[in-house]
Amino acid sequence: MPVIEVSNLNKRYGERVAVDDVSFTVEEGEIFGILGPNGAGKTTTVECIAGLRTPDSGGIRVLGLDPRTDGAKLRRLVGVQLQESQLPEKLSVAEALDLYASFYPDPADWRQLIADLGLTAQLKTRFGKLSGGQKQRLSIALALIGRPRVAILDELTTGLDPQARRDTWQLVEAIRDKGVTVVLVTHFMEEAERLCDRLALIDAGRVVALDTPAGLTAKVADEQRIWFRP
Ligand code: ATP
Repeated sequence: MPVIEVSNLNKRYGERVAVDDVSFTVEEGEIFGILGPNGAGKTTTVECIAGLRTPDSGGIRVLGLDPRTDGAKLRRLVGVQLQESQLPEKLSVAEALDLYASFYPDPADWRQLIADLGLTAQLKTRFGKLSGGQKQRLSIALALIGRPRVAILDELTTGLDPQARRDTWQLVEAIRDKGVTVVLVTHFMEEAERLCDRLALIDAGRVVALDTPAGLTAKVADEQRIWFRP
């Protein structure tokens, strides 16, 4: 059974159509990419899956549950790392982790998570003083603290230097290797090729292609591929 099933999803903001009849499924244990240019509707789609936004119409099942009616249960099963972290600048890394751990009945051992993510030396550092890469790693830790079965990672590597980007890719693979199903939102074809088992290419709210990275590369015209190069 797929872990995520999205069928004919639609979402508008006023007159603007953000998500237009989007359908796809995500299988257990895969890294599923949602790839597309700015404004394509990627974030809106994953926010609907995570229960953070209500779609206008369409079906969503995550682990057999509907985010619209089973939001509280799903929050424990789905870890979400969204584009802009909303943490207060003055909160330290340890305080942020303690705060997030308090939301879950059986949180992961965050000291281990932080060691795996290479952030132990920053435990007392305030959020506002972290580098971009460190903020990203903290946001991954916060997404994983509830031991989720599904992790939604939105534009994890935007703004990172090449080394930090490669480190982040390894982290995503490590998350998948622990058995967590990953939904990865990205602008970068290179990132999708490297990490994703399958992906949906989204443009102007519509799924343009749904395939493996190799299949997609073969299908999409060169002209269109240029948009997704960093
Ligand atoms: P990006 O890669 O730039 O983050 P995206 O593919 O994630 O883009 P969305 O953020 O889902 O795209 O936005 C889809 C469309 O909906 C865009 O045209 C955007 O301007 C619009 N939009 C997104 N959020 C809102 C909002 N809260 N109110 C009004 N319009 C919005």
